[in-house]
Amino acid sequence: MTDETATTSKRAVRVAIVGAGNVGATCAYALLLNGTAAEIVLIDANRERAEGEAMDLNHGMPFTRPARVWAGDYADCAIADVVVLTAGAAQRPGETRLDLLKRNAAVFQQIVPQVVQHTREAILLVAANPLDALTYAAWKTSGLPASRVVGSGTILDTARFRYLLGQRFGVEPRSVHAFIIGEHGDSQVAIWSLANIAGMRLDDFCRMNGGTLDAEAKREIAQNARRAAYDIIRRKGATYYAIAAALVRIIEAIVRDQNSVLTVSSLAENVYGLNDVCLSLPGVVNRQGVSRVLLLPLDAEERGALENSARIIREAIATLSL
Ligand code: NAD
Repeated sequence: MTDETATTSKRAVRVAIVGAGNVGATCAYALLLNGTAAEIVLIDANRERAEGEAMDLNHGMPFTRPARVWAGDYADCAIADVVVLTAGAAQRPGETRLDLLKRNAAVFQQIVPQVVQHTREAILLVAANPLDALTYAAWKTSGLPASRVVGSGTILDTARFRYLLGQRFGVEPRSVHAFIIGEHGDSQVAIWSLANIAGMRLDDFCRMNGGTLDAEAKREIAQNARRAAYDIIRRKGATYYAIAAALVRIIEAIVRDQNSVLTVSSLAENVYGLNDVCLSLPGVVNRQGVSRVLLLPLDAEERGALENSARIIREAIATLSL
């Protein structure tokens, strides 16, 4: 299909992925398996890498959903529905996400203008780290409305939290409703006060259905969610399967206009008195990007921890010349 026919008829869902490394290529693979996108273009400074990934993905096509996958360039973003930004260096063992900031902010200064030169319609979906500062940098540099710039944020941390709680209580993670908000990083905030299974707060769940959850267990679970990236990177050098699945979930919510509540990062505009900082809160995700953010009845400790997280992200953003 040419780009011209694509714009005149009801066109196929196109996802552009800038950065065809571990995360970008795995995201393309997950998209292919789940059939969300009919067109997937991989864009990378290392053209050969993108070409190799596209070839490998195409060869799986007899066993996946039909789609068009190719190594392209920024002009291919022109009719993309979503542009995923996964370009940049990954964390080195022991390195914090904030240590990465300067290196990856420079990458974003290079790629974001090239994306918006070709589209102002696509939703930008940021996955590179440090996530919140780069989501802010992408918003500032792009000049797009804040709702159209979405960071994967704490959707992954939330998934880890739900997995760990599911393991503890013997239910699958999809049946656990719990959020981690704030920074996708060390200052993230696990919202224990609202965590529930089958509508029951966890203390009630334990009382009615067995199980225990004392302060020490909570501390350990929150720490395991927070430290997961470090623990995985130490063992295998990078993380990419879970984030790829999470990116596909966000893309699905966008292109299918699902109004899904997901903990993604977006610009805070007068939420809990926070402004001019990107961080994760439960957001309603649809064709508009993050159309609104839901306020949670946080307890005082959680509120203080969120403010601390916002302060840490704001300090990181302040080091950037935007
Ligand atoms: P990777 O090194 O495997 O891939 C990065 C890719 O970006 C490489 O192919 C590289 O050639 C490309 N690239 C670098 N500079 C570029 C530029 N200027 N233009 C175009 N392409 C460029 O890294 P990875 O493991 O895929 O990780 C990518 C990013 O995702 C990292 O910042 C990592 O920390 C982050 N990450 C985020 C999450 C999350 O929860 N949001 C989870 C895992 C990893």
